[in-house]
Amino acid sequence: MAGAELIGREELAEIQELFSHDKVNLYRYGGGNYKAREFEERFARYMGVKYAHAVSSGTAAIHCALAGAGIGPGDEVITTAWTFIAPVEAISALGAVPVPVEIDETYHLDPLEVEKAITPSTKAVVAIPMWAPPQMDELAAICERRNIMLIEDAAQALGASYKGRKLGTIGRVGSFSFDAGKTLHTGEGGIIVTNDREVYDRAAEFSDHGHMHREGLPRGKDPRRAKGLNLRLSEVTAAIGLAQLGKIDLILSRTKENKRKIKEAIRHLGNITLRPFSDEEGSQGDTMIFRVRDREAALQFEAHLMERGFGTKILPEALDWHFAGVWNHLLPEFDRYRDADLETLWPRTGAMLRSSICLNIPVLMDDATIGRLIEAIITGSERIG
Ligand SMILES: *Cc1c(COP(=O)(O)O)cnc(C)c1O
Repeated sequence: MAGAELIGREELAEIQELFSHDKVNLYRYGGGNYKAREFEERFARYMGVKYAHAVSSGTAAIHCALAGAGIGPGDEVITTAWTFIAPVEAISALGAVPVPVEIDETYHLDPLEVEKAITPSTKAVVAIPMWAPPQMDELAAICERRNIMLIEDAAQALGASYKGRKLGTIGRVGSFSFDAGKTLHTGEGGIIVTNDREVYDRAAEFSDHGHMHREGLPRGKDPRRAKGLNLRLSEVTAAIGLAQLGKIDLILSRTKENKRKIKEAIRHLGNITLRPFSDEEGSQGDTMIFRVRDREAALQFEAHLMERGFGTKILPEALDWHFAGVWNHLLPEFDRYRDADLETLWPRTGAMLRSSICLNIPVLMDDATIGRLIEAIITGSERIG
């Protein structure tokens, strides 16, 4: 699980550094330390953007990103029917209307479906890169032409890129998560990145009850212009983030190399279809997706892998948290979905996800384990033959 595998001495050293000050301050505003600020500066430099604002989770990050971009009640926000549920929760929390659309063969927003879903109420498209880039040029062109904002929830794609540009930096604002399954892990945490000062300011305000963070003013006298919440990051979390960020090149290069070895060895198999990419160079290493014949074959494949000690990642075992077609607890609050049979709204996405296997590719994976995984995939493909 990427950065979570490498939590250790360096993270502890950063926390000890925090505790080595005369006065320890675990709060990001007031009292000194400011690991959060240092983390934001280093993250912004790594991403090559002007601004980064760290918050308490990846869900908080997309919530702040959307709020910062001015998404509010009644706005329609187009996103993909295949995503972890968080961005759809965030859209809903802002009173906006989530409009999931079908995915293309790269498992990302299908530009044709995006175009079809646009109405006069559409305010933004949230692209959700799943360890690899969507068709970003096409999506950007549609958004530009229709005067809609492009936003990226790149929680799963820190370190991935599209034609040399880092994902998360292509839209007006991008967000990331540092939960246990993501590239970097801080316990809980998230961050937004943008080059747009207005979006940055408004997102930061939203994360802190609307505080406008005016230099020289005591916190109690801070003015406000919009409502917010408390989605702040603690200094302890930021300290861990600093150490994790120092490991990002290692994480990305090791997982990419491990995945390359595995893909080379299974590329020829007839019963599985590796997913195609809009830019394979830019894809991340810590996850691999392939398709098999149908749902039954996928479940059989999953069981086969389990018997050999390898779990799947999201597909198929956590599909319910990643497919709009089963979110009957959330989507029916919106008129357009109230009486709909959700499952029938995104048939292509449902069929693709249910026939897919998604695998975690660890950072720390010795050649013997890589060999056993390859063997498990080869025998699995024979078994479903
Ligand atoms: C993981 C994830 C999130 C939420 O991150 P948390 O830190 O767990 O809140 C948001 N969006 C996407 C696409 C994710 O995969």
